[in-house]
Amino acid sequence: MSSPKPRPSFPASLNNTLASNRPSPRGAVAPVGAEPARVQPIQKASHLPTKAPMPQGLGMDSGAVRAAMVRKIAASGVADEQVLAAMGAVERHRFVDSALANQAYEDTSLPIGLGQTISKPGVVARMAELLRNGRADKLGRVLEIGTGCGYQAAVLSLLADEVYSIERLRGLHDKARDNLRALRVPNLHLLFGDGMEGFARGAPYAAIIAAAGGDAVPQAWIDQLAVGGRLVAPLVVASNGGHGQAQALLVLDKTTQGIRQSILEAVHFVPLKSGVA
Ligand code: SAH
Repeated sequence: MSSPKPRPSFPASLNNTLASNRPSPRGAVAPVGAEPARVQPIQKASHLPTKAPMPQGLGMDSGAVRAAMVRKIAASGVADEQVLAAMGAVERHRFVDSALANQAYEDTSLPIGLGQTISKPGVVARMAELLRNGRADKLGRVLEIGTGCGYQAAVLSLLADEVYSIERLRGLHDKARDNLRALRVPNLHLLFGDGMEGFARGAPYAAIIAAAGGDAVPQAWIDQLAVGGRLVAPLVVASNGGHGQAQALLVLDKTTQGIRQSILEAVHFVPLKSGVA
């Protein structure tokens, strides 16, 4: 064929097996109330189109590139099969500008507007693996701070019963909603607000994950974490001589004996900021 490949429409599918095998999440939200859709400002995705078209054309090609991305993530040391399956299921190219879609499966962060970035897929997988901590079952309720374009939230929605994801920038909150509209993600709730306050109505959380790095872990996050729950977040560990800040991954476990923390490898996330804009 001599004509160039048309740009794909990238039909929506948050993958087949993972999405369709998910049990109805409704009953799992007890402390939030029987009707989470009425809890403002939760943006329910369940009213969205329920039938996603089958991948076709370049959609299939994207499956092959994504599989290659997943192999690289596995080679880098991520072994959790559920995480790898979720990374293989979510079409990352849907969450970036069409001009950047050809880079969507490289292990790189990419601009998503308003000075923010979509996290590297390798880091998303690593953090999800830390969050799952080797369990066989799904996580219960998960809180994500920093929705951004919604990519990590979509990955988490395959690994948890319910995901609450907060974004402080209205423009990105709206963008994530647009990106996720075509996908069928009834257990993902998008919130607009200051994630430093957490989201008390969804608490307690089995897991909390932050996609932006602060100087300290807000007390609200620790309060809203269930006993037995785990928080994974980038933390500023040193200032880098005027050239930004050095961050490392923090893993915090809330146990009956108290808080246990470990600092892992260096990471580079956008800063955690307070307030909304
Ligand atoms: N998980 C995202 C990563 C987005 S970058 C993805 O997959 O694309 C991190 C995001 O955190 C940015 O959009 C930034 O606006 C947001 N953020 C920073 N501080 C925040 C806060 N206090 N509350 C909510 N979101 C915050």
